[in-house]
Amino acid sequence: MDAQTIKRRGVMLVLSSPSGAGKSTIARNLLAKEDNLELSVSVTTRAKRGSEIDGTHYHFISEREFERKRDSDALLEWAPVHGNYYGTPRDAVDKAMSEGRDMLFDIDYQGGQQLMHTARADVVSIFILPPSMTELKARLIRRAEDAEDVIAKRLSNAIEEISHWKEYDYVVVNEDLERAFNQVQSILTAERLRRDRRPGLFEFEDALVNG
Ligand code: 5GP
Repeated sequence: MDAQTIKRRGVMLVLSSPSGAGKSTIARNLLAKEDNLELSVSVTTRAKRGSEIDGTHYHFISEREFERKRDSDALLEWAPVHGNYYGTPRDAVDKAMSEGRDMLFDIDYQGGQQLMHTARADVVSIFILPPSMTELKARLIRRAEDAEDVIAKRLSNAIEEISHWKEYDYVVVNEDLERAFNQVQSILTAERLRRDRRPGLFEFEDALVNG
């Protein structure tokens, strides 16, 4: 038996941070580098930004459709963020977990709280902090995909969001993107190796000892 094929449960990797702390870039790099990791594509009622693709970055839906999904229990978690609704479709997560694939959740602290409550054993949560508020503001302006009032709202929400770092398993300060990325990747590597996620070790031991 090859060590790579030892059966294990999937990891639900939750990444949260205020907007502009670099979470999306880290998430994108991680998805590009890691096999067996896929993004949980959320539903949202917010308007699509120019660079976004429906079905890839989000499923963009109406408020009416959102309410229908929420009320039929199709969402694993949901929350209002910056005046819009966001939620995680349940089906894709159930499928990935049962097939032993890992899933990445780019969600806010309200979603993080809900997932840590409902799926504590499968969730590994990481909070990403910016190195300073000046840097956070500069990143929001550089992104410049949002109108000025949207940026102001995101900055004031950032203070509330930041206060939730204490609820997470790990905290990474994104001063240097490459270092922060390496830290997040190391967390994922270590969490995949946790004994209690790897029921296949019993079978591996049996093959190891008994041939
Ligand atoms: P944005 O509008 O910039 O894409 O995202 C705004 C915030 O909503 C980000 O903090 C993002 O992580 C969060 N978010 C995105 N999808 C979900 C979701 O499905 N659930 C929750 N709770 N937050 C989400």
